[in-house]
Amino acid sequence: MATQLGDIIVSAKPYVHTLSQSNRTVNCSSCVKSCGGLKKCSKCGVLKYCSVSCQREDWSVHKEECSYLQHVSPNIPVDSVMLMLRLIIKHKQRDFGKPDKSNETWKRSFLDFKTHKKEIEQDPERMSQFSQIMFTLQKVVGNSLPPATEIFDIFCKMAVNSFTICDGELNPVGVGIYISPSLIDHSCVPNAVVTFCGKTLYLRALEEIKDPTPENIRISYIDQLALTSDRQDQLYKQYYFTCVCTRCSDGEKDKKMRSVKCQNCSLGNMEKDENGFLPCKECGCSVNSTDLSRINKYENYICRFKVGERLKITESF
Ligand SMILES: [Zn+2]
Ligand SMILES: [Zn+2]
Ligand SMILES: [Zn+2]
Ligand SMILES: [Zn+2]
Repeated sequence: MATQLGDIIVSAKPYVHTLSQSNRTVNCSSCVKSCGGLKKCSKCGVLKYCSVSCQREDWSVHKEECSYLQHVSPNIPVDSVMLMLRLIIKHKQRDFGKPDKSNETWKRSFLDFKTHKKEIEQDPERMSQFSQIMFTLQKVVGNSLPPATEIFDIFCKMAVNSFTICDGELNPVGVGIYISPSLIDHSCVPNAVVTFCGKTLYLRALEEIKDPTPENIRISYIDQLALTSDRQDQLYKQYYFTCVCTRCSDGEKDKKMRSVKCQNCSLGNMEKDENGFLPCKECGCSVNSTDLSRINKYENYICRFKVGERLKITESF
């Protein structure tokens, strides 16, 4: 069935998710909503919940996680290790092959995830992150840790398939693995966007999509306002592919994006290069300081809107 602008194509609960460390004291670890009166897990004292039902829902994974956290407390692992830990618990529970319950039509499980193993092995930054994660996991999980090759496979899948979970104000609150939505490929001219309500991910149409099957849906993994060369760099660095979408093959778009309409003649444009704005092509006047501050303000404003951006794995994550 065709979808119109704003329609929900798919909604999904996370396969696993974790709050960012800074949000652990203010957001519920299960539903990720921020609320007062959170209650600590009485056993580990690390995770907090807004209700008994939230705690119960999280228990299938937190039960094992809880004993690991008690073991290392007060040294709580960084977010990337917390997410890996949850995936390892799922692995131990032999859960990887189970199809995504929140979307039965796309029939997808964690086992179907791309790994980009070869590219990651060639990436010194990622490999150093992997050894750090391994080191911490050995301390946290000890002898019952699966073999390193299996953990590497899980790490690769996590690295290229995580979503940043944002709150209503688009501030990141945590990270999650969403089985079906990970199937959606990237385009710099997307026809869909990812939004969140709590930890539930909604894939929404940005235009009419006649046949909304995964191969006809595209989201943008990165900041769409960046220039082509920056987008391509970022996509390769984070996701190991070269985008060949219509925008990436259109050099004129970048020029337009970097220019502003002349306020003097309203006909010409002022293009921006590394040194700033060039004079108007029509009347020859230069950009004035009032215009400049207006442009800067606008740029800062739109930079805050990075809906649906996939996760940037950094050292601190
Ligand atoms: Zn909750
Ligand atoms: Zn606990
Ligand atoms: Zn592109
Ligand atoms: Zn002009």
